[in-house]
Amino acid sequence: MSTIVRYAPSPTGRLHLGNARPALLNWLYAIRTGGTYILRLDDTDTARSTDQFARAIEADLDCLGVRPDLEVRQSDRMALYDAARDRLIAAGRLYPAYETEDELEIKRGRARLLGKPPIYDRAALALTDEQKRRYEAEGRQPHWRFKLDGRPVEFNDLIKGPQTVNTASMSDPVLIRADGSYLYTLCSVVDDIDLGVTQVIRGEDHVSNTGTQIEIFEALGGRVPEFAHHNLLTGAEGEGLSKRLGSLSLGELREAGYEAMAVALVATLTGSSLPVEPYPDLAALAARLDLTMISHGSARFDPAELDSLNARILHAMPYETARPRLPRAIGAAAWDILRANLQKFSDIELWAAVIEGDLRHPAAPDDRAFLAEASELLPPEPWDETTWAKWTAALKEKSGRKGRALFHPLRLALTGREDGPELKSLLPLLGRRACRDRLS
Ligand code: GLU
Repeated sequence: MSTIVRYAPSPTGRLHLGNARPALLNWLYAIRTGGTYILRLDDTDTARSTDQFARAIEADLDCLGVRPDLEVRQSDRMALYDAARDRLIAAGRLYPAYETEDELEIKRGRARLLGKPPIYDRAALALTDEQKRRYEAEGRQPHWRFKLDGRPVEFNDLIKGPQTVNTASMSDPVLIRADGSYLYTLCSVVDDIDLGVTQVIRGEDHVSNTGTQIEIFEALGGRVPEFAHHNLLTGAEGEGLSKRLGSLSLGELREAGYEAMAVALVATLTGSSLPVEPYPDLAALAARLDLTMISHGSARFDPAELDSLNARILHAMPYETARPRLPRAIGAAAWDILRANLQKFSDIELWAAVIEGDLRHPAAPDDRAFLAEASELLPPEPWDETTWAKWTAALKEKSGRKGRALFHPLRLALTGREDGPELKSLLPLLGRRACRDRLS
């Protein structure tokens, strides 16, 4: 049986690193199993969902390399939810309740006072038709609750192993609001059945939801998918992802110069048994990463890890991959020399300016004569990697300088920078004319 997975964000905001985790875990699972990946926009909350967020989610996923086979949005699928509603009502599993939010709050407060869990007391189940009519005559519209079985729901989580959710300790969930709008809890199950979803891979904040939803799957006569609940990315102290990079949206991380691959790998590999290290592409990661490698413990995001992974990806990036993004001054030879100095791809601009730009670095008074001498001694072209050694040997002899006194003024004059790639590699890229100009 081929696998069908879905990533189901609500278009009520931009995607963050923490959202990239389920997006990618589903994508990698689809690649690994040759399955189908569905992007489902959970947009039944019409007050908060916008088209603009939906477009941004599509663009963010595309940047990460996630290419859905199918995209659906819940707001297009109301007829399915209507039919499910009718079936649940007919089966006696969905019942109208008329309490206002204030009345419910009073009930919860009373339960707490008595030391009981604040579970809905199902008073609405006992209403007579006459009482319901009276409520409606008063102008009350019912909301609709799903009648839970109250038995322990068991499932074998693909990450966490055997799980039991005791729905007896939960309130009957509201599936339809008083304004007639559907809640995610129902729509998600109806869609998963209709789309034939075989695995639901989502955050562990949904485990108890899964208990409820398995009951709804069964009440609707649908096939219950397998479930996998992954740990959530947290900050270094285990708190929510609010610190520095963790709170940035994927779009902001791109603007801050992080490679999509670095973001994808950190989002996926943090909190797994695999090291956070470069992979050539997501397919290579999919071949390695199994859901059982997601740890049962926490997934602590370390911003330093993103920085260092980003640099490592650049240091290993082949010229052909970099080429479309490179300034004209940077050819294959320059790229191979310079890439080891990059933290962010945009650092290459700085090196393009060093190689091609009109660079003048004012020399210290003590160094002026020395640099003039250096200019005089520049060997004739063609230059290669041996030119530097020959030139500086002659210069050492002539000036009597050595070590830092010899090399540091040259680096400063030639590159305007304190550090960078080895000058023996850089020299042929600069060429004799630029070197003369910069030394004089
Ligand atoms: N829209 C839900 C959320 O973002 C989807 C959860 C699920 O995967 O079922 O939490």
